[in-house]
Amino acid sequence: MTDAQSLNVTEIFYSIQGESLFAGYPCAFVRLSGCPLRCKWCDTLHAQEESQDSKKMTFSEVLSTLRTFNSKLVEVTGGEPLAQQMTIPFLKLLINTGYRVLLETNGAEDIAFVPIEVHVVMDIKCPSSGMHERMNLANIVQLKRTDEIKFVIGSHDDFTYAVKLIKKHSLQERCSLVFSPVSSGLPLEELASLLLRSGVYARLQVQLHKVIWGSDCRGV
Ligand code: SF4
Repeated sequence: MTDAQSLNVTEIFYSIQGESLFAGYPCAFVRLSGCPLRCKWCDTLHAQEESQDSKKMTFSEVLSTLRTFNSKLVEVTGGEPLAQQMTIPFLKLLINTGYRVLLETNGAEDIAFVPIEVHVVMDIKCPSSGMHERMNLANIVQLKRTDEIKFVIGSHDDFTYAVKLIKKHSLQERCSLVFSPVSSGLPLEELASLLLRSGVYARLQVQLHKVIWGSDCRGV
């Protein structure tokens, strides 16, 4: 592997998967550095920029670290993974090495070149993020039936916005849908009753890692 095959990495760790259809399973995480968006409620501020937390690692170095975890499930997250050019080749390498691969992406980057074997969890940002106009909704047709769209809901307006988009783009027929509350926003109970009244078939998700280790914990 050449030196050009490298990524800017904020952290690599092994934890319980806190979100997605894989929630609850042991999972290795590769958190890449840098994100072009600035969501108001971003909970990974340490990965938004390539800061002192970030270091360049070759693919070999990342793979060596992953091998120490004895996990066949790996999530590539950020920041925004697809903001780095070498992420697609790295995803292919993970697949070819035998990993089950999850990708968390912010919905603004083009997902067309993500390998088909990768399980994609794509955000569609709602108005409270301040980033909803940056979404690349052309991505919707690229999603597989097994992929997921995550709406992070911070307010009643966000909920209404998400339901409108779900209906407009027939998202229920496209892939799995997840509603995840902003921790400082809408109480979980309120989001639950909104979901029950809406008739939308989406999963209400709590961030399991935060339930276990608390909301400010890093590297979990
Ligand atoms: S897309 Fe993710 S990493 Fe980027 S600002 Fe929004 S929440 Fe933070």
